[in-house]
Amino acid sequence: MSNRLKDRIAIITGSSSGIGRATAFAMATEGAKIVCADLREATWRVNPADSTGIESDGPTHERIKANGGESIFVKVDVTNPESVEHLVEAAVKQWGRLDIMVNNAGWAPEGQNPAPIWSRSLDDWQKTIDVNLNGVFYGIKYAAAQMVGQEPLSNGDRGWILNACSIYGLRGAPGIPAYCASKGAVANLTRSAALDCAPFRVHVNAVCPGYVATHMTDPAFADAKLKEQVNREHPFMGVGRPQDVAKAYVFLASDDAQWMTGVAMPVDGGFTAK
Ligand code: NAD
Repeated sequence: MSNRLKDRIAIITGSSSGIGRATAFAMATEGAKIVCADLREATWRVNPADSTGIESDGPTHERIKANGGESIFVKVDVTNPESVEHLVEAAVKQWGRLDIMVNNAGWAPEGQNPAPIWSRSLDDWQKTIDVNLNGVFYGIKYAAAQMVGQEPLSNGDRGWILNACSIYGLRGAPGIPAYCASKGAVANLTRSAALDCAPFRVHVNAVCPGYVATHMTDPAFADAKLKEQVNREHPFMGVGRPQDVAKAYVFLASDDAQWMTGVAMPVDGGFTAK
């Protein structure tokens, strides 16, 4: 174990799969105590060809404990504000404070069948906005309410809020309007919340990943031709692994990023450099 996040209390939503699961492991390795939060404990499995080995071997919090870390699981539905409020309360009840809130839970139903905006269903629109945007708003709201009122740590900071954005929060893509709208809104919500929270020394930042091999992208990547095309869109190393994004979350929650707030940071193998 290393100690960049020693004894910090972290909630990670969407911790049962992909980037959230990798972030929970990475933060636990850095000494944080982890509240794993998801709709269910069980993890998804991805296409074995893309598997990084972190998708198997049981629930995230059990894996962390087996490796000597501290972790609990709290069931949450991020589309329900009361459920998110309860999640923050559960972290504080368990460990007395909340230092890091990773609003990672998300989904992308449009990605299964990209289609022009005029043919998109209202249902896909509403559910995408509900999870990807409203869920992040509730996470910021209840985490910030806790953080601004708690004692600062020895470095003077009171907390770190980290939001899941995307390359598609920074630019558009055809056929997935709700996803692009939700992530674009998360980027600017991050900036706005950062300004409210700055006087209290609470950081609010976002991470904008390129395509990463997870349960979310697994159906698309089953098409080898499409996967190769997506690989070429990322000049540096092709599509990413969940761990590549987890490292960025760890950095933004550490003292190495102490003068950073209000940033939507690409972690994308050069996708948005083009
Ligand atoms: P994933 O599908 O592997 O995992 C998402 C997790 O979120 C799942 O465990 C799921 O159960 C959980 N979740 C979904 N709805 C929820 C809800 N209402 N309440 C609580 N939990 C819920 O996805 P991933 O690829 O790891 O993506 C994680 C985040 O990163 C998402 O916000 C996604 O939009 C973003 N992202 C992913 C990629 C990519 O290519 N995979 C790229 C850019 C951004």
